[in-house]
Amino acid sequence: MPHRILGLAAVMLLCASASWASETITLIHAGDLLAVPGRAPLRNQTIVVEDDRIVDVQSGFTDAASFDGEVEVIDLRDKFVLPGLMDMHVHLQGELGPDNDRDALKMSDQLMQMRSIHYAMNTLKAGFTTVRDAGSSAQEMYAMRDAINNGWIDGPRIIAAGGVGITGGHADISGVSPNLMEIYTSANVCDGPYDCRRAARNAIKYGADLVKITSTGGVMTDRATGTGQQMEMDELREVVQAAARMGRKVASHAHHEDGIVAALEAGVASIEHGSYTGPRAIRLFKETGAYLVPTLLAGKTVAAMAVEADFMSDAVREKAIRVGNDMAGNFEKAHKAGVNIAFGTDSGISKHGINAEEAVLMVEAGMSPMDVIVSATINAADLIDMSESIGTIEDGKFADIIAVSRSPLEDIEELLDVDFVMKGGKVYKR
Ligand SMILES: [Zn+2]
Repeated sequence: MPHRILGLAAVMLLCASASWASETITLIHAGDLLAVPGRAPLRNQTIVVEDDRIVDVQSGFTDAASFDGEVEVIDLRDKFVLPGLMDMHVHLQGELGPDNDRDALKMSDQLMQMRSIHYAMNTLKAGFTTVRDAGSSAQEMYAMRDAINNGWIDGPRIIAAGGVGITGGHADISGVSPNLMEIYTSANVCDGPYDCRRAARNAIKYGADLVKITSTGGVMTDRATGTGQQMEMDELREVVQAAARMGRKVASHAHHEDGIVAALEAGVASIEHGSYTGPRAIRLFKETGAYLVPTLLAGKTVAAMAVEADFMSDAVREKAIRVGNDMAGNFEKAHKAGVNIAFGTDSGISKHGINAEEAVLMVEAGMSPMDVIVSATINAADLIDMSESIGTIEDGKFADIIAVSRSPLEDIEELLDVDFVMKGGKVYKR
């Protein structure tokens, strides 16, 4: 006991001395700076960072001597500097592969949580300073989000979804014995409008930043139930309304156009995957301003695994090949038609830390590198209502800053190899 009291006293002393010290100033000398994606990059700039925030962006390379106190200078004069990237669709709790079933049986929840922290760090070190987790074991993800926000562990900012879905649908458990299904069925599986209203409220009660629904079937559901619309209009509307009343947005997983259209009509903020976005969906996207989160990397990954690996059931394999091969072509049409795009990979299908491969696929599907970077910064920040604090390198924003060797505007593959990562003023890679 005395040791514990002594320990506490030492911690309190440390905290006190930290608050007496003057703020830490960091000057980042940036050779090329894309401060605001969408606008032309600037040459030879200094980003002034105080604690976790950007307080100024000055032209030229400001000398440390022009500031009082302790000043650190980070030399990125031969780098291309841009805002931290954001991925609007990850699942930090796993990675798809042949060992998934064995892991689920053998790994403790605690060990899985530690592995999620590892995946989160892979993501951060790849230059993704903010992610939206689109569905994991919810309490574990909320805990990880809160621990990162409290500074207890390192990781990207996490916006965490609570999942709501119908019995037998894509968000419900599949592919295991009935006994296990009974144990693992989420309390947020619902049927009918009032039950789904309850489920949305329940997700928010336990800590969801947004509600994630599945208006259509999904590729990885181990049942031959297709990828068309599954949730009914009344269920969709109730979830969106219940969430909106509590200040939460709704994101809907959707593959076929009937389910995309239904979810957009119900008022969701984003469509995840949107594999078969056609003319009717495009019209509604533009009317509502909702975002499409394309996840081309997931499509490519499952289509390749369906051919190369042997752990998928026949039901899953058929969907993986079909949907995986159709995604990019439909995305190209949606982007060309002017649909709002927010960057998202569905990482967890692909490995965590290769998120930028999505950017390469988006460029291959006809998007300009600048538009891709806008989708992963400004648009993503807008989707999660954080435009005031992240998405650009401007006064008052969090110092979420990354750097690559050469301009990704000329070669998007530069984003695959990020040299420098700062999140909230703290350097994670240099
Ligand atoms: Zn997903």
